[in-house]
Amino acid sequence: MHFNTHFNDIAQSYLFSTIAQKVAAYSAANPDKTILRLGIGDVTLPLAPAVIYALHGAVDEMSKKETFHGYGPEQGYDFLKESIRGYYRTNGVELEPDEIFISDGAKSDLGNILDIFAADNKVLVPDPVYPVYVDTNVMAGRKVEYMNATAQNGFLPMPDYSVDADIIYLCSPNNPTGAAYSKAQLKEWVDYANAKGAVILYDAAYECFITEEGLARSIFQIDGAKTCAIEFCSFSKTAGFTGTRCGYTVVPLALKRDGMSANKMWLRRQTTKFNGVPYIVQRGAAAVFTQEGQKQIKANIAVYQSNAKIIADCMDDLGIWYTGGKNSPYIWLKCPNGMDSWTFFDYLLENIQVVGTPGAGFGANGEGFFRLTAFGSPEVTKEAADRIKKLLSK
Ligand code: PLP
Repeated sequence: MHFNTHFNDIAQSYLFSTIAQKVAAYSAANPDKTILRLGIGDVTLPLAPAVIYALHGAVDEMSKKETFHGYGPEQGYDFLKESIRGYYRTNGVELEPDEIFISDGAKSDLGNILDIFAADNKVLVPDPVYPVYVDTNVMAGRKVEYMNATAQNGFLPMPDYSVDADIIYLCSPNNPTGAAYSKAQLKEWVDYANAKGAVILYDAAYECFITEEGLARSIFQIDGAKTCAIEFCSFSKTAGFTGTRCGYTVVPLALKRDGMSANKMWLRRQTTKFNGVPYIVQRGAAAVFTQEGQKQIKANIAVYQSNAKIIADCMDDLGIWYTGGKNSPYIWLKCPNGMDSWTFFDYLLENIQVVGTPGAGFGANGEGFFRLTAFGSPEVTKEAADRIKKLLSK
């Protein structure tokens, strides 16, 4: 017997454990100091009342013989798929019900989708990157190539026709950089993928944070995307489902290579290895798309957007270069005075007890950058911004 030796090739990530250790050590040495955490990527507001109401109703249904639900369709209940279809329609995108697959979140699907791709496919990911794209491919023995996301390209790398790729990961609005592609930029990616016969795995987990006109909410708003893209979306950041777990993946019927259909393969994969998301959770997710649900989740998102603006305004006042903040809960800033990511981390922790995430933890191009998140409370965010302003304007 042999284990999968590709696991030896996964880079160990010490990012969040190192942060936790440093914060714990500082806290122990300075028990009187209040630490403000702007490093978290988890939401802090509770589920919307409309979602809670639907969850309760579904729990009650499960208690009666007449309304009990056992195994559901692996790809999700029609009522939720129809709600998602309606949502895409408001963004000008027409989907077939069979193109939508309900899942327990974007992370699982981003990993699981690799089952339908050949082992020798060449993978292109941006650097810096959400580590899941890299690690899932390395586990499967695939070679990963990086494209540079830098201050020069606004952390939005564009296609290079001299590079051949089979699988391309794009995340917009991006984690960690908060940068978001315009529709015109995504059109260039779609044209490139169609020309190369490549497939774009498009992560739209932060789509709900887009406010500016001209930015894409879905890659399927771009002509030609249905022959070259798969889209991953999530209720985690949209509706606070990080602990409730629900997402969806759109695999177009038109996405075919060598006579094989990505949609049919993904359906086969899911019906073989997955037994669906709980009925109760899907009822809760469907409530997100009701009029009441939309109003309530938008109110929660507005709180995070207002936090993001507080941090972005602080950077503007200090003249610090950053991406994100406007269409994203992440602010990705250039560390001042030429500090590297970890030096800046220590500087903030020791001087003003503000905790963020060193950009170097997301890839080589993240060195010299730093991520702050808008998922904290308005009070903590404001206090942190005040402390940062006072410290850096000295
Ligand atoms: N994609 C990106 C870019 C993320 O940042 C995250 C979570 O932080 C996910 C996907 C995972 O989302 P989910 O909670 O739906 O698994």
